[in-house]
Amino acid sequence: MSFKTKFFRLSNPITKTISFEKFSQKLSFHDLILVYHLVSDQDVKHVKHLFHYRSAKQFENDLDFLLRHFEFVDWNTFLKNKIEKVKTKKPTIFLTFDDGYSEFYDVIVPILKRKGIYAVNFINPKFIDNKELMWRNKASLIVSEVKENRALQNKISEFQNFGDDVKNNLNSILKINFKNQNQLNEIAEFLEIDVENYLKKNPVYLTTDQLFKLRNDGFGISSHGWDHPLYNQLSLSEQLENTQKSLDFMDQNQFLTDTFAFPFTDHLVTNKFFDSIFSHNPDLKFTFGAAGLKLDSYAKNLQRIPIEIGNYSAEEILKNEIFYYQLLKKFNKNMIIRS
Ligand SMILES: [Zn+2]
Repeated sequence: MSFKTKFFRLSNPITKTISFEKFSQKLSFHDLILVYHLVSDQDVKHVKHLFHYRSAKQFENDLDFLLRHFEFVDWNTFLKNKIEKVKTKKPTIFLTFDDGYSEFYDVIVPILKRKGIYAVNFINPKFIDNKELMWRNKASLIVSEVKENRALQNKISEFQNFGDDVKNNLNSILKINFKNQNQLNEIAEFLEIDVENYLKKNPVYLTTDQLFKLRNDGFGISSHGWDHPLYNQLSLSEQLENTQKSLDFMDQNQFLTDTFAFPFTDHLVTNKFFDSIFSHNPDLKFTFGAAGLKLDSYAKNLQRIPIEIGNYSAEEILKNEIFYYQLLKKFNKNMIIRS
């Protein structure tokens, strides 16, 4: 459990009793950027062990709450407001999604269209058209399959250095990282879980055709790195290469080239990376992290608020984020300082 999840667990019973207006008065940001991944009423095996995703109803409730307190802006308006320092009547929200899940097309966009809200989806070109299952999705799929199948629970204890403790084994699978991702293929093979077949039967990601339709409908498609690496596990040149490859893909397909969102986290990414990527890509205006309400010493890197924390609603998340930011500010910890 992350530190913030622990903090929210403690602060939520308190913030719950106080009206949202009391928090929004204290909001030191005029433009918020939110990040979701998935909305679905289904049991999504390849995601359910990674984060809590919203049902369609919960997502609509979030949007209805947000519409009462904020003005949603599209990417161009966001850019214009940011660059020209425009102050709107209400604070604004720019809505983003990560990872290019197919539900963006089937579930999310129909809701957004109905409510007149615009969003950008940050995608990994490597997984478009379901060419491959992203390594984190693979981990969740394996855990789901093992949990549902007693024979697999016994079998996995025989894998390499795994033991009899099923829970422990499942935790180890979820801890496998970007650099070691091949272990997931070895485990899937050992357990005879047919990932390719799963992907064929359950399209996980958006297809090229859907991406073009979304773009033509005015939704933004933008870059999230080539194959969803953890940036602080890459060397500087690998970071730049992975980013550039995905930006070039956006350029070739007339998707957005003026923005980029880090997969996972921009934690420990240095000024050198930012200086280099911005100077090689004159179109690029802002990059995005997902550290919640926080300033960044690299002013063109903006932090988004992750909304899929625990089972909290958007209202609860925002209250706790604002509360948390006030505390960070008191201790002068409200800015990410990069070396
Ligand atoms: Zn992602």
